[in-house]
Parts: sequence; structure tokens; C-alpha cells
Amino acid sequence: MSIIRDSVVTLHYTLKDDAGEVIDSSASGEPLAYLHGHGNIVAGLEKELTGRNTGDKVSVRVSPAEGYGEYDKSLVQSVPRRALQGINDVREGMHLHAETEEGPRTVTVTRVAGDMVTIDGNHPLAGKHLNFDIQIEDVRQATEEELSHGHVHGPHGHHHHE
Ligand code: ZN
Repeated sequence: MSIIRDSVVTLHYTLKDDAGEVIDSSASGEPLAYLHGHGNIVAGLEKELTGRNTGDKVSVRVSPAEGYGEYDKSLVQSVPRRALQGINDVREGMHLHAETEEGPRTVTVTRVAGDMVTIDGNHPLAGKHLNFDIQIEDVRQATEEELSHGHVHGPHGHHHHE
């Protein structure tokens, strides 16, 4: 069947950056299952998969605006090391969990220089084009329960709560 809103889609994917480096892939493990039309995958990919069928292979290039967002320089800050209380041995590339006005988010330490630490609140893939190679393995109608929860249940879906 074709992918429409409320389809449960099972697919294998490989995600590459513009340099051809593999960022993420399901190839060595279980495929991904998601509920179509509910914003559970990036917008640009969801849009391109609408109307596709089981067995289709799809290559999609998603712009930052329809992926993980444009890179926002205002999310980069320098803070004194002493502001990062309780964190020993701050290193470049470390991910920290920060409470912000928009709720909890993950920030990345991008620079440590003397007493100052630069942290970046952008998603690691912000500002990047996302190049997906998709193989659609299965398409089925979601159950009532899945629709009421807004996500997929079952072997490749969400591991359930309650
Ligand atoms: Zn659920």
C-alpha cells in the first residue's frame, strides 16, 4: 500500500552529509518504524515519502529548514568555567544538559580556552543538508491505540511505557 497520513512505515535508511560521510544508518540493525504524518521524522523526509510504496528506494536531499533547522549563532555562548558547576574535566565535544527558558536541551562544548568555555545549543545537524537513502520495507495502517498515542507500537517501534 501507499504511504498516507496514519500509515505505519518500516524502512531502512542511511543518512549522509554533503561530504558523503555516513552520519547515521539502520543498515546494520533493525529498520526504523514510524507513524507517518505526525512529525515523528524530519519534515522534509516525511513530505517526500508520502505516496511511496513498499519496496520503493528513495533518495531525498533535505534542506536545513526542513531538517534540523538553520544554524542559529545566538545559541552559541561563552561562559566562565565556574558557571558549569559540578562538571569536572570540561572538554571539547562534550554534551551537556542545560535547563533553558525553552525547556531542557542538549548543548555541545565547542571550545575550552583558559577559564572560558564556549557552548553551542544548536542541534548537531543544524544548518546541514541531510542526504537520505531510504528503502521502504513495509507500510500498514496504524491501530487505534497507536493513533491515540501518536507513535508506533510493536517490534521496531516505541518501547512501551504502561
Ligand atoms: Zn504508546
